[in-house]
Amino acid sequence: MNLTTSVEKINKIGKVTARKLSKLGIKNVQDLLEYYPVRYDDYTQTLPISELKPGISTNVQGMVEFIQNKRSFKTRMMITEGMIKDATGQMKVIWFNQPFIGRSLKVGDIVSLSGKVDSDLAGLQMNSPEYEKVRGNQSTHTKGLVPVYSLTAGLTNKQLRFLIKSIIKLSSEFIDALPKFVKEKYNLIDFSQAIYNIHFPQSAEVLEQAKRRLKFNELFLIQLKSQVQKFKVKNQKAEKIKFYKQATQEFVNNLPFKLTNAQKKASWEILQNLDSSQPMSRLLEGDVGSGKTVTVALAMLNTALNKKQSALLVPTEILASQHFETLIKLFKNTDIKIGLFTRSQRRTTLPTGRQAHNIKHITKKEINNLIKKGEIDILIGTHAMIQEDVEFKNLALAIIDEQHRFGVEQRKVLRKKSGSKKTIPHLLSMTATPIPRSLAQVVYGDLDLSIINEMPKGRKIIKTFVVPERKRLDSYTFIRKEIEAGRQVFVVCPLIKESDKLGVKSVEEEYKRLNNQIFKDLKIAYLHGKLKAKEKEEIMQEFLDNKTKILISTSVIEVGVDVPNATIMIIEGAERFGMAQLHQFRGRVGRSDMQSYCLLFPTDEFKSKERLETLAVSNDGFKLAEADLKMRGPGEVYGTAQAGFPEFKIASLNDYQLIKETKEVAEEIVKQGIEEYPELVEQIKKNDEWMVG
Ligand code: ADP
Ligand code: MG
Repeated sequence: MNLTTSVEKINKIGKVTARKLSKLGIKNVQDLLEYYPVRYDDYTQTLPISELKPGISTNVQGMVEFIQNKRSFKTRMMITEGMIKDATGQMKVIWFNQPFIGRSLKVGDIVSLSGKVDSDLAGLQMNSPEYEKVRGNQSTHTKGLVPVYSLTAGLTNKQLRFLIKSIIKLSSEFIDALPKFVKEKYNLIDFSQAIYNIHFPQSAEVLEQAKRRLKFNELFLIQLKSQVQKFKVKNQKAEKIKFYKQATQEFVNNLPFKLTNAQKKASWEILQNLDSSQPMSRLLEGDVGSGKTVTVALAMLNTALNKKQSALLVPTEILASQHFETLIKLFKNTDIKIGLFTRSQRRTTLPTGRQAHNIKHITKKEINNLIKKGEIDILIGTHAMIQEDVEFKNLALAIIDEQHRFGVEQRKVLRKKSGSKKTIPHLLSMTATPIPRSLAQVVYGDLDLSIINEMPKGRKIIKTFVVPERKRLDSYTFIRKEIEAGRQVFVVCPLIKESDKLGVKSVEEEYKRLNNQIFKDLKIAYLHGKLKAKEKEEIMQEFLDNKTKILISTSVIEVGVDVPNATIMIIEGAERFGMAQLHQFRGRVGRSDMQSYCLLFPTDEFKSKERLETLAVSNDGFKLAEADLKMRGPGEVYGTAQAGFPEFKIASLNDYQLIKETKEVAEEIVKQGIEEYPELVEQIKKNDEWMVG
């Protein structure tokens, strides 16, 4: 047996157990050893029975004096009752529905029990404690720091502990890829030792060392990958995009608004960065509604003036066509030709330009031709744009909106599409996730950062209220008034269809309720991800044209959608969404100079009250994020998947010090030349799932 041996070959594992393990992602010995406990039960203390008190959790050792199975008269449940005795006293034990315990423990057996001590009229008792027979001095389940794993149906902690214990010796076969100088400098134990001790620590101190080493490993590999990536990019060339000062000035002067200082600063950073043959890798961070689109439009403008192409990759069809329309308007006084490429649509402004309203639907072949010939300057598209074989003539700038919605692969593919072997496109990612600069710098180690931390002038604060159920009807009266004044309303629900989750609103139910009962006379529509792209498009267009007054939707409207006339955002089941997401929803309104409102309807008034109230008093995404960071720490706030952060096995974003240290080490090693450490090269090749850039 070795690390790559499949779990099925482990002694006493059946096919069934193997299948259950594979549900946890465990296929071979290595996976099993790297399946870390989520916590530990502290049974380091063994107490004599005479010293037990109700409420404490502890280990007790004694002899089985009596044991029997019986069926409960009331519940028909099988109950195992026992009496345990040590030199100091006696204690009752009860297990429910585990009759095999009554068969396997015999009077006279010495047992070790761990759990919480209760009492009833008859005296002290333990309910369903962990138990094992004491053989020699060995105990796996009841003594010391006992590992607790995250389980799947049908697997028990006991089984997992048993299995891991049976192969724990193989932990010595792990290759420790971390250079010796790093281990010495940061006082880290060996990897094999860490694996052993994460499962079966002899003391809290040893456990801490194991955790530190494994977290270090995880974070270090991520940092190393992004440093390697940064290094690779640095050694490639991009097209130098000359800055057209006058044309840019003219464009800015023609905008219907004045750029904010933050927009100016960010565009300046971007334009300067582009004016170099060193490829840009930059993250543009700006709260929802802070005006990122026009900021990147300046970069696209200059790219087009340099006779080069830009591509804008967006996560949804709705957003793609919205950006298409927006950019057509922004560039209406120029000759810039814009194309749209999604799964269901290919559109372009007519090649003659200056005819913003004359937008042609064309075939895939036609648009591919235009792109290849360089007749489209700016291409906006969804995944389809990178999946299908779109060839650019000279893609010099690749922009990704809502970057956390995209994986590494997609970014990589886009970066390979320059159309030339000699250059790669400059890369600009956008995000509305307000990550404080200090944190972003470490998490996105390979990206430069521009932040728009200022809202356009004249925006009114979005008034946000947490509405208790008893005030629901009042708020409908208020909504009706707003609609009569010409405004529009978004309603977000957590689910699409009715479900058995009691009280959780779904789009379809809510549509029926509002359409048939509350607002019978108004035109209402609904939207969710399961509808066809074409349908979504039409529904969105009708809402944009103010034909529909209320739009009910799932979280699909979360990203980017811009309907300035909508002034009310209602969020049902508000406590089911994260703060960052709620703030994103809210950002759908307040996009004009009209007063806007966000009404949060929690299913349960008292759940997450503090979180929702915080949202109600602050409108600033960055401040909210900071408050949330203080309350919950970055691990919680940027709950991995949604912000596009890596999924950690053991580390978290709260390990700030370790993130910093591992970044330093990664930089150092890349500077020395990673080839010096073949084992590290092997490792980063192996888990290439996460990488920014
Ligand atoms: P986001 O950063 O969320 O992508 P958008 O780029 O969609 O924001 O901009 C939101 C709205 O603000 C758009 O309607 C846009 O025209 C408008 N806008 C952008 N910049 C300014 C500005 N400096 N002054 C006023 N309105 C602006
Ligand atoms: Mg946007």
